[in-house]
Amino acid sequence: MANERAKRTKWVVGNWKMHGRLAENEALLRALLQAGSVTETVRIGVCVPAPYLAQTEALLRSGPLAWGVQDVSAYAHGAYTGETAAEMAAEFGATLAIVGHSERRAYHGETSEVVALKAQRALAAGLTPIVCVGETLQQRETGATQAVVGAQIDAVLDTLSVQELARIVVAYEPVWAIGTGKSATVDEAQQVHAFLRARLAAKDAGLGDVTLLYGGSVKPDNAEALFGQADIDGGLIGGASLKSHDFLAICMAASTARAV
Ligand code: PEP
Repeated sequence: MANERAKRTKWVVGNWKMHGRLAENEALLRALLQAGSVTETVRIGVCVPAPYLAQTEALLRSGPLAWGVQDVSAYAHGAYTGETAAEMAAEFGATLAIVGHSERRAYHGETSEVVALKAQRALAAGLTPIVCVGETLQQRETGATQAVVGAQIDAVLDTLSVQELARIVVAYEPVWAIGTGKSATVDEAQQVHAFLRARLAAKDAGLGDVTLLYGGSVKPDNAEALFGQADIDGGLIGGASLKSHDFLAICMAASTARAV
């Protein structure tokens, strides 16, 4: 699929997780607004805690950066205490919604079926869902990586229409690489991305162009090599997205990476 690579836009999206306060968010967002010409070749976004959507919209609305949330409800409205509807995020100019992050799967018991419904709800509200998949260390060590991420992506493939699937982004995030400082090697990441791309294309040839991001301890010094892989279209960035210098360096790496 390397020859198709040139057609696909590069993406770098920050996942702030449950970090931030008004003053530090403002400093970070103002620094990101200095991204300059890199935004011409890379789509850059930040997924912030929902209470900071209004602040994020106010600071970013006149610039090229996108913003979004880290989860949405599988429902449009109703008695779901504590949840955020995709439609609510959209009212604050959000265009992105992470769904199925491994922390949601692990700590909130989200199944792949629920994740698929959340992706569908995000699309219905006009958001781009970034659907996260990934295996644990034990699953990798027992050779179950493809079975695990295959089942996770199949739940989405079985629930969404081809038209809906054409509008999703998928992030491969090995659980053992998230927040650990231990990124997957470029070969490990590329192999899973190629597997995911083939799985999408098997559903419909057009889905071979879906944007596939890598996430898990991406830093300025490993970003370019990862983003240079044939099936890796950019990154979902946790810890490094909280440091403007590192995040902008990763965005720059996405812009300069060349497909191998
Ligand atoms: C994440 O939380 O999605 C993530 C990739 O985190 P980190 O970059 O810190 O590993």
